[in-house]
Amino acid sequence: MHDQNWAIGVDLGGTKMEIGHVDMLGNVHQRVRYTHANRHPDYIMAQIEETAKQLIADAVSPALGLGIGVPGQIERATGRVSFAPNLQWRDVPIKKKLEQALNIPVHVTNDVRAAAMGEWVYGAGAGCEDLVCLFIGTGIGGGVVSGGHMLLGHSNSAGELGHTTIDWMGKTACSCGNSGCLEAFASGWAIAKRAREAVQQDPAAGAQLLKSAEGQLASITAEKVVKAFFEGDRLAETIINAALEALVAGCVSLVNTFNPRMLLLGGGVSKGLSPILVSHIEAGIKKKGLSQSAAAVEVVLSKLSGNAGLVGSAALALL
Ligand SMILES: [Zn+2]
Repeated sequence: MHDQNWAIGVDLGGTKMEIGHVDMLGNVHQRVRYTHANRHPDYIMAQIEETAKQLIADAVSPALGLGIGVPGQIERATGRVSFAPNLQWRDVPIKKKLEQALNIPVHVTNDVRAAAMGEWVYGAGAGCEDLVCLFIGTGIGGGVVSGGHMLLGHSNSAGELGHTTIDWMGKTACSCGNSGCLEAFASGWAIAKRAREAVQQDPAAGAQLLKSAEGQLASITAEKVVKAFFEGDRLAETIINAALEALVAGCVSLVNTFNPRMLLLGGGVSKGLSPILVSHIEAGIKKKGLSQSAAAVEVVLSKLSGNAGLVGSAALALL
């Protein structure tokens, strides 16, 4: 028999979506996955509505609400999605529409903040009052908990940690339009881009990487570069070492700025680099960070991985 207090969590991504029944303890009892056949807001909202109604019908007690993480900018007061580039959504009143359809409270947040929420409430950061979550995946994002509160910012945009400028002369254009951002050095897309450029410049040094991608330059991914790094490939070592130094710079800035008790690292690139990541970042922080902040922080890896967004979204309705 599981907890009767439960909520619906929705993890909405650019290409797929997960909807689940999540209890007070963060356990997922039922989940449905979709790959977007159509990204139109009406289509996706109809899918959410239908699945939520089914979850409600299957449950023994009423849902406390629905929480949804959306990859975009959310207007906090109204729960309206102002802009979600990966979904090509603009001004979608998702909270209003889902509340009308389901007649339960609906909470809308940014997808990365939802994942940070998940790690904070149910994951490796549980119980931590001063927590910085840094998710290093295709892009880099995060969430900051300070004094027991998730920082939202004046226009609900706080926590865009990947767009911390770590090199003001950096030439690589970032996804945000700026250059020199942490994301432009250490994200999955940046690692893959650097590797492709390096292989093109020096095909001999890039032979192993190119082979791992079956000869297709465009098939060189960050995952393949990380794998080659652990196999001792020299070119992959150069690229990953540079990404690690960029991450140290970013993490030192975050630790100096927020003085967290815990710095939590998640996302696909973190997972790939997990055998060395924590010790490397910790050593960098001890060496370069302000001593009072550096001494206070513990670096940990995320615990929930793919589940963080789903349970974190539900937590908005559960807490
Ligand atoms: Zn940026």
